[in-house]
Amino acid sequence: MQSLYKETKFIMNKYHITANKSLGQNFLISKEAVDSIIGSASISKQDLIIEIGPGLGTLTQELLEKAGKVICIELDTKMVDIITDRFSLYSNIEIINEDVLKVNLQDLIKNEKQKNNFQNVKVVANLPYYITTPIIMKLLEDKLDIESITIMIQKEVAQRLLAEPGTNLSGAITYGIYYYTVPQNVIEVSRDSFIPAPEVDSQVIKLNIRKNPLVIVKDEEKLFKIIKLAFMQRRKTLINALSNGNLYTKEEIKQMLEDLNIDLQIRGEKLTLEQFAQIANYK
Ligand code: SAM
Repeated sequence: MQSLYKETKFIMNKYHITANKSLGQNFLISKEAVDSIIGSASISKQDLIIEIGPGLGTLTQELLEKAGKVICIELDTKMVDIITDRFSLYSNIEIINEDVLKVNLQDLIKNEKQKNNFQNVKVVANLPYYITTPIIMKLLEDKLDIESITIMIQKEVAQRLLAEPGTNLSGAITYGIYYYTVPQNVIEVSRDSFIPAPEVDSQVIKLNIRKNPLVIVKDEEKLFKIIKLAFMQRRKTLINALSNGNLYTKEEIKQMLEDLNIDLQIRGEKLTLEQFAQIANYK
């Protein structure tokens, strides 16, 4: 950790940087974590990497050495100035100074693939924790032409994403993750691996994008609406939770569960993704 710690401190002093907490700036200083992220992303010169939130460029440096091209998307102009300066000798970097949630990633990837013939596109990031879920959902719901997403996130969130659907740790988002990806644990990273140290521990996970979703549904939006409703009142029976939306009456849900052979007393949090899909596909 020592040398990355010194390097990070040196860069922060050189550019007069104090971490901006509201932008989730916690700079990684653990070489072990950096190596795990880069190793598990398995990057080659045929790959285009999209890095979200490069910050001072700790991961960027390694990515630039291994990938065909790295596109960095960073909201903070100060960080953009630093990595522009730091990596001025690299010809395979492009920096977009923008909120990642506002970037049209579909067009970006399509254009890059056409122009440079990259074999694979991979997302790699130490994410800003205040918008972890919106970023992950955008990456998945936009149905991007990407192979994997390797990310450092808060440990508690990682555990929810890696949980088996229908178990205690799972949440509505768990089903989205399993629908679109095969999730994989990489490494746990303690809070003292960052400057400044956040109040929580972290974990690196890799989401391997499925070629086809795990279950077939006629209407994806309806599937996720039903899952969200079920988890908004996860301790209630599914009949009660679902009747709170404007999708079904209690009678309709009862009939549906009977037809589908699902226990009438079941709570939403206990359903499998396959059972939610059966409900979404019912008539
Ligand atoms: N990658 C660096 C590292 O590992 O040391 C910094 C990671 S830091 C946890 C998160 C980074 O995301 C910060 O550089 C922050 O400025 C940037 N960021 C925050 N909100 C963002 C957004 N909406 N779009 C793009 N970048 C954002």
